[in-house]
Amino acid sequence: MSKPAYKRVLLKLSGEALMGDDAYGINRGTIERMVADVAAVANLGVEVAVVIGGGNIFRGVAPGAQGMDRATADYMGMLATVMNALALGDALKHAGVTARVMSAIGIDQVVEPYVRPKALQYLEEGKVIVFAAGTGNPFFTTDTAAALRGSEISAEIVLKATKVDGIYTADPKKDPNATLYHTISFDEAIAKHLQVMDATAFALCRDQKLPIKVFSITKPGALMRVIMGEDEGTLVHV
Ligand code: UDP
Repeated sequence: MSKPAYKRVLLKLSGEALMGDDAYGINRGTIERMVADVAAVANLGVEVAVVIGGGNIFRGVAPGAQGMDRATADYMGMLATVMNALALGDALKHAGVTARVMSAIGIDQVVEPYVRPKALQYLEEGKVIVFAAGTGNPFFTTDTAAALRGSEISAEIVLKATKVDGIYTADPKKDPNATLYHTISFDEAIAKHLQVMDATAFALCRDQKLPIKVFSITKPGALMRVIMGEDEGTLVHV
């Protein structure tokens, strides 16, 4: 078997990816499938750190957050990512993977705090890390947390797992002629106004020369094909 294309990756999973076809929350079958994909990659010796979103839980409480102070609502969103991270850590454990959850906000009785040297040590030991609470700051997103943590741990690539299989020339739901980009440069993506990640996350990856691969986590075997360097999804390169 050929060798993985990467030694260390940062996987960004949106909270909504955990919902499956449910309206909100965590779908058991979906999280188990996802964890099996992550386990297969980790078992190859690839060092994996995951940044998990919170949209699946926060969306459920968002109506109640209307009119709320933005920073307060964002802290609620970050707490939602902590719940997802705990579920993911637990599912990884059941799949036989040693995982550590690290939080960007202090919640020590529940999750250990994010400490960079400790995170690097875990990765070197072959443990999967789940980064919870995004960047720890309101007004940011977990995409930005992925770019930030990816840069901090010197990941070779940010793998942005979505429900679509990459970046298209136009919205494939609206335009039947839309085609998938296999590769695209940061500059081209900006010039064409393609939304890859939010602007802050995108700018950070570009500055740090950290490539992004956008792919579908719902497609069987896609994560493994990405890891093996096969033509899957869209690669945003420097
Ligand atoms: N959030 C935040 N700071 C961060 C990361 C997340 O304030 O560094 C909040 C923000 O309110 C966001 C929510 O947490 O809407 C959930 O994160 P995100 O929307 O990125 O999750 P995803 O869409 O990937 O599930």
